[in-house]
Amino acid sequence: MTNRCDQCGRKFRGEGNHTPTRILCDDCNATYMGHAAGLIAGGGIGNAISTAGWYQRIRKVTKPKH
Ligand SMILES: [Zn+2]
Repeated sequence: MTNRCDQCGRKFRGEGNHTPTRILCDDCNATYMGHAAGLIAGGGIGNAISTAGWYQRIRKVTKPKH
């Protein structure tokens, strides 16, 4: 099964990451989750963006390259 990410348009295998409105690849889902975490933390938009960037960096370090 192949899906297409609604955020970046990249094709990927598997179910993907379903949000209430979209299907996202792992990378975009990480960004989305980072934004959500930042917003939940109550830091506002700026903090949400920085949290998303931080989360992506963590994933790049911990996730092996394909
Ligand atoms: Zn994507």
